[in-house]
Amino acid sequence: MHSFNPPKRTLMGPGPSDVSPRVLEAMARPTIGHLDPAFQTLMDEIKELLRYAFKTENKLTFPVSAPGSAGMETCFANLIEHGDKVIVCVNGVFGTRMVENVVRCGGEAIVIEDEWGKPVSVDKAEQALKDNGDAKILAFVAAETSTGVASDTKALCALARAHDCLTIVDAVTSLGGSPLDVDGWEIDSIYSGSQKCLSCPPGISPVSFNERAIEKIKNRTTPVQSWFMDLNLVMGYWDGTGGRSYHHTAPVNAMYALHESLLILHEEGLENAWSRHAEMSQKLREGFNAMGIKYLVDPQYALPQLNTIIIPDHITDEAAIRAKLLNDHNLEIGAGLGALAGKVWRVGLMGHSAREENVNKCLAAFKAVMN
Ligand SMILES: *Cc1c(COP(=O)(O)O)cnc(C)c1O
Repeated sequence: MHSFNPPKRTLMGPGPSDVSPRVLEAMARPTIGHLDPAFQTLMDEIKELLRYAFKTENKLTFPVSAPGSAGMETCFANLIEHGDKVIVCVNGVFGTRMVENVVRCGGEAIVIEDEWGKPVSVDKAEQALKDNGDAKILAFVAAETSTGVASDTKALCALARAHDCLTIVDAVTSLGGSPLDVDGWEIDSIYSGSQKCLSCPPGISPVSFNERAIEKIKNRTTPVQSWFMDLNLVMGYWDGTGGRSYHHTAPVNAMYALHESLLILHEEGLENAWSRHAEMSQKLREGFNAMGIKYLVDPQYALPQLNTIIIPDHITDEAAIRAKLLNDHNLEIGAGLGALAGKVWRVGLMGHSAREENVNKCLAAFKAVMN
């Protein structure tokens, strides 16, 4: 046994994405205590930078000390009480996980399905809201990483509000990569992940809740089943006012990394980062189109940060192609999931990975292995 030295890869799959050397360097700085006043200053800055990235003034905006899936559970566990009706829009893998969360929280899931590769149908969601006047929550995935589809978050949130429902929005792949406006679109609760367009190592989940969501949580008649995720308790740890109390030990060095990655996003400017993702995606599309490779998703709904291409008919062993990309070119891309397994590849352009040199490297590697 000896120290682990990872191979040098270019990460162009569905996450994690390439981590900038600046972020890795920040992560290697000396660990301090999580109740150290200096760490408290860092926590406050992280919350401020997250508000910038989410475009929100929400006080309750902080990073959950666990991956995106834990941010998901934090939203569902806190907002759902036994018997609550929750409308869940499913158009890919992560929507199905939302359904599972509702059921495990004791809620009643009303599932609205759309074809994988298509956005959530706003009309179907509206019909479901009309048919279920007693529904409490509308949940959907803003950017489905399993298919590369963006749904109309603004329209869905406006509908939910018109029907007096709260929203739970999965923005794990959206944050920092494509337009997202928590306050402007009146999103009630939202969760994301560190390892997609923020280009931070995996393991942290930024979340944000507005006053309407907090009110529902405060008015619960039963305690949140998960002690770790109970926001009533977590708030005392992440809320600086009145002195912080010990809840759990934050992953100190991971927070250095998150802070640095958010700082990089702030320096570039959120809107500039969105434009860069769109531009790189367009370059990639032109390259793939020139090679005769087709896309799964209508450009109108396609996510710039996750490009789903259809595996050409003449490829009989798609896993062998991915292995060749990894072994010969150190390039990681994603396979298709569920119904799309064996039919598509998913090429990520997330955060630090969304650079021209990566686009060129990817296209050259595909040309080499497909011949
Ligand atoms: C990656 C992802 C998740 C899960 O995040 P983890 O950090 O892997 O737990 C949830 N939703 C979407 C849309 C994702 O892309």
